Amino acid sequence: MTYTREEFSARLSALSEAAGLKHLTDAAEEKLYIICEQLDLRSKQFNLTAITEPEEVLKKHIIDCIFAAAAVEELGGGRLLDVGSGAGFPSLPIAASLHDLSVTAMDATAKKTVYMNETAALAGIENFAAVNARAEEAARSEMGESYDIVSARAVARLNVLMELCVPFLKVGGYFVAMKGAAADEEMAEAKSAAKKLGCSLVKKVQYTLPELSDARFLLIYRKDSKTPEQYPRNFSQISKKPL
Ligand code: SAH
Repeated sequence: MTYTREEFSARLSALSEAAGLKHLTDAAEEKLYIICEQLDLRSKQFNLTAITEPEEVLKKHIIDCIFAAAAVEELGGGRLLDVGSGAGFPSLPIAASLHDLSVTAMDATAKKTVYMNETAALAGIENFAAVNARAEEAARSEMGESYDIVSARAVARLNVLMELCVPFLKVGGYFVAMKGAAADEEMAEAKSAAKKLGCSLVKKVQYTLPELSDARFLLIYRKDSKTPEQYPRNFSQISKKPL
């Protein structure tokens, strides 16, 4: 990593201020530093994420996920599940900045869940656990209908993503989808999925990352009723015939 701990802290403060985000505690900054350091070290050993340049990691991974953490904080506490968390985004920065929230990260690739658990242990992020599972299968276990918040970034288009995520929510819980410029188009495409899965849009937050111009969105849906027994279907049905 090309930043020292001090440089990292200064850059993180400058970027989060430019983004209008509130100041992070030293403890949270320390955890975020270790997340970036591990990503840098381990990306060289295996392919964890397409973004590896330190300044880009800070903006596109850390600051982006802190925007999600700020929205999650407003939704209240409890248990959060991040579906398709990969190298821990947004789950690790959310857990690092909201220590009262219990965060579970799920990924279908075992080496990624091992990586996330090792990184959380090194960073002292105690409110975090990663599990190796496929969402559409795990949602049919005791994990189904048991989370207050479910998040996801860069996993699938919204109509597919909803069927993977909404079944994990308790009725009254919130689904937070992190989306890019195609958010409106994906929302329109996911109207029927939302109806069938019993959820409705309650908030759409638009933001931009500091020094970058592309629009980003947090789409927040509330689960209004229990997931019908037939969902989630198996993955080939979910992806070939989205709801
Ligand atoms: N959320 C991370 C990773 C995105 S890549 C980020 O934004 O950086 C998508 C990840 O989703 C991959 O790691 C892949 O293994 C995982 N994934 C895709 N489909 C999944 C499913 N059905 N269940 C669990 N994980 C899944």
